[in-house]
Amino acid sequence: MVDDAGKVLARSECPTDAPHGYAHALGNIRRMLDTTAHEIRCKITGIGIGSTGPVLPLTGEFGEVNFFPNWKGENLVRDLSDRFQVNVALENDADAAALGEASWGAGRNKKRLIYVTIGTGIGTGCISDGHLYRGVDYSHPEIGHHLVDPSGPTCVCGFRGCWESLAAGPAMTAWMNQQAPSDYPYGRDLSAKRICELAVAGDHLAKRAVDHEAYYLGLGMANLVTMFCPDAIVLGGSVMKSAPLFLTRIKEIIRQSCSLVPFDKTELTLASLGESANLIGAARVWYHRFQIDGSSR
Ligand SMILES: [Zn+2]
Repeated sequence: MVDDAGKVLARSECPTDAPHGYAHALGNIRRMLDTTAHEIRCKITGIGIGSTGPVLPLTGEFGEVNFFPNWKGENLVRDLSDRFQVNVALENDADAAALGEASWGAGRNKKRLIYVTIGTGIGTGCISDGHLYRGVDYSHPEIGHHLVDPSGPTCVCGFRGCWESLAAGPAMTAWMNQQAPSDYPYGRDLSAKRICELAVAGDHLAKRAVDHEAYYLGLGMANLVTMFCPDAIVLGGSVMKSAPLFLTRIKEIIRQSCSLVPFDKTELTLASLGESANLIGAARVWYHRFQIDGSSR
């Protein structure tokens, strides 16, 4: 439950539990909404949803979502709207977080903003003058899958060398697995978080992994700066909890790569909504659709 200033009033969570099917998940969502509203004695006036994609934001349907097998065509917007008798809006989760940061977070007052979340994948959302940028047929651009190195690793999208395949958290794990000698004392399959901790503690190999990660983060960011010249790039996601390890190198690559655009005017800033970014972003999805943009956007 989020109020009209972006403040979280109450929260509740449970696993999506996708294998048990859409009806089961819908039941959980309804129950949590009812319980949470009852707890703080508030009336639900609208419902916003940020979901992993692909989703069809205007119809409210799920596309072929990897994590939700067999949910294609299910319509969460229609089902929640029927049950709660309020307007419901759906967006891709990175777009939702971008809307949250742009209005109630670190991107406030930035006219052109790109939000980048780096965790198990790389998600992005582009906001211009408070409006979400959409592609053809209201599609969500997949900037995490722009090509950085054609000789790079195979990507979940089927291509190779996408930014995500080189710079998301699992890329750090994969690089360490490849590079670590068999007697490496900290073992294999280390998480990005653990690698960052080891780097801070002075481990030589972990420090190289951080440099490698910062280099590929920097290449992708530099591409964004060259192509869009945004006022700000807002960085979120679990990998960016260790942002101080990466920022200097990222800025250096931007400086080297973006000489034809006013790169020094693009602020690199950390997301400020923290753990609640997705929740607050989902609330902002509703505002964006029904209070700012009109239902046609
Ligand atoms: Zn890809």
